[in-house]
Amino acid sequence: MNCCVQVALRIRPLSDAEMEESATVVAHRVDQQMVVLMDPLEDPEDVLRANRSREKTYMFDVAFDFSNSQEEVYRATTKGLIEGLISGYNATVFAYGPTGCGKTYTMLGTDKEPGIYVRTLNDLFRAIEETSDDMLYSITMSYLEIYNEMIRDLLNPSSGFLDLREDSKGEIQVAGITEVSTINAQEIMELLVKGNRQRTQEPTAANQTSSRSHAVLQVSVRQQSRSRDVLQEVRYARLFMIDLAGSERAAQTQNRGQRLKEGAHINRSLLALGNCINALSDKTGPNMDSKLTRLLKDSLGGNSRTVMIAHISPASSAFEESRNTLAYAHRAK
Ligand code: ADP
Ligand code: MG
Repeated sequence: MNCCVQVALRIRPLSDAEMEESATVVAHRVDQQMVVLMDPLEDPEDVLRANRSREKTYMFDVAFDFSNSQEEVYRATTKGLIEGLISGYNATVFAYGPTGCGKTYTMLGTDKEPGIYVRTLNDLFRAIEETSDDMLYSITMSYLEIYNEMIRDLLNPSSGFLDLREDSKGEIQVAGITEVSTINAQEIMELLVKGNRQRTQEPTAANQTSSRSHAVLQVSVRQQSRSRDVLQEVRYARLFMIDLAGSERAAQTQNRGQRLKEGAHINRSLLALGNCINALSDKTGPNMDSKLTRLLKDSLGGNSRTVMIAHISPASSAFEESRNTLAYAHRAK
């Protein structure tokens, strides 16, 4: 299991708003794996009285800050999943963290600085072109939102709420979802940007409801054998890239990793993933939204690879939120 979960942390640059409120930087990347969070309480006596240590260190499989490009983040987290995907292994990439900390920037990015979605698709198309076996590949993508346990097609929002169904091979599918098979990067970016605008109360600012929407880009790789007369699907693998709901409610969640700790020899990064997933659970549900869990049924654990990229702001004003996020996500070495 050890190989299969990777936990990354990304600290975004200080925002203009944070600079205006003269926030200081309290979260620092020390090296490729280590992050330090400094307590912004000015008076050391206050820190002692609050029974907090002045700074705390957290370890990750990989850590990024303002100096790291979109390409670097992509290479160190997601690029390595492509080979497995082509070989038939499912994979999932999660962007986790409070609203405003850079999840959408990492996953979707901007025209100038595209994120993981487009970089992954480009490399996947390239990898398949270069594969010289006798397989016929077809790649399709769907982009959906899960909000309040309802699934909406972000590429065709007028289609209403969609259901999950199990297909004849036992795979969970979103019934009636738009499947796009374009390989033009520009076109894909436009589709995703447009889709993202359809997210429930997505852009800008922390607003309580916006934080509950998960955006899911599902990439399906189907392979057929050409060697016989009849085309036969021999492999099917999916990559889910998920811009999770904001984690700002995490502080209220008491049962950190409890569920996962119950397992016998649970590894630390899996526990970190579990912590984050639990942190996203609603008061109404025991675990991550059940629609999302069902959709990911065969893409978490087992032979599937999972990457979680946790996000924080570096600002003193975000200290509490960052501390929560780091505590949920850090991987004890
Ligand atoms: P979230 O999706 O977690 O709510 P966003 O991705 O929308 O947060 O980021 C909030 C703001 O910060 C956006 O304006 C975004 O462009 C900017 N931002 C986030 N991360 C970075 C980064 N690594 N470099 C530059 N700007 C960033
Ligand atoms: Mg966002």
